[in-house]
Amino acid sequence: MTTLVENFPGFPEGIQGPELIENMRKQASRFGAEYRMGHLVKADLGMRPFELTIGKDVIQTHTLIIASGASARWLGLPNEQALIGHGVSSCATCDGFFFSGKEIVVIGGGDSAMEEATFLTRFATKVTLIHRREQFRASKIMLDRARANPKVAFLTDTVVDDVLDVSKKEVTALRLRNLKTGESWDFPASAMFLGIGHIPNAKMFAGQLETDADGYLVTQKNVFTKVPGVFACGDVQDRRYRQAITASGSGCMAALEVEKYLEQEGH
Ligand SMILES: Cc1cc2nc3c(=O)[nH]c(=O)nc-3n(C[C@H](O)[C@H](O)[C@H](O)COP(=O)(O)OP(=O)(O)OC[C@H]3O[C@@H](n4cnc5c(N)ncnc54)[C@H](O)[C@@H]3O)c2cc1C
Repeated sequence: MTTLVENFPGFPEGIQGPELIENMRKQASRFGAEYRMGHLVKADLGMRPFELTIGKDVIQTHTLIIASGASARWLGLPNEQALIGHGVSSCATCDGFFFSGKEIVVIGGGDSAMEEATFLTRFATKVTLIHRREQFRASKIMLDRARANPKVAFLTDTVVDDVLDVSKKEVTALRLRNLKTGESWDFPASAMFLGIGHIPNAKMFAGQLETDADGYLVTQKNVFTKVPGVFACGDVQDRRYRQAITASGSGCMAALEVEKYLEQEGH
């Protein structure tokens, strides 16, 4: 879903997400990497070698690098998916720059929403934080920081019913509704950033690998899981940085550890 990646080192003009991935794939193929597409539905990490069920196929492997990422939570609005990359975003670090000098909106009431709202004031002239309740889940320090920022405004007890305007292929406004009064109105904005969290894609390892309260895989020394031979990298184990370059960096660490592990085990 990533369109223009502006911050991956080595691409001074930026690069489209799919093109970056295709380049990486070609580069790995040149060194003998073999690609198989499929959805991992089950993993048995209790046996050696490990057994992975991918669709209808079962494969065995001595080591495993889990790089299954984390999916952003969306609101499920009728026009939301059509406007991703055209003003609807789940990544302030990635897309904030595109809305320099504009008025934008952040959805959420936790720490990540506060962090995104504060961060986005670097670019936007005004950031309105929209939250469905009156109380915030965010820690006091994060909330106070956002409240002290003159560019951040708050709209509470308010939900988003839809985002406009698909026909123009850009965000022009949000259709809002006040939960206390029932009043509905269109709120002009150039972008809607979601700050309502991510879901790590790690359910297929439930009960076998340690996760934190939000389901992120817990790793030691960056990429080690509790099961020897199983490594995790990227967004599935990193709730803090969530960038292409940090995911690539931890992917490299995992690959180097796999080499060491296979050598030690005599494979
Ligand atoms: C809209 C958007 C814009 C972004 N822009 C930028 C940017 O400009 N710069 C930047 O640095 N970062 C950006 N990011 C963040 C960046 O894309 C991620 O940090 C990075 O892709 C994480 O890499 P990853 O390999 O950990 O996970 P992902 O890239 O998410 O890859 C995980 C892969 O695992 C697959 N998968 C999941 N479950 C299974 C399963 N059960 N079986 C098989 N496969 C599975 C998924 O389909 C996916 O292909 C953006 C993200 C989004 C959503």
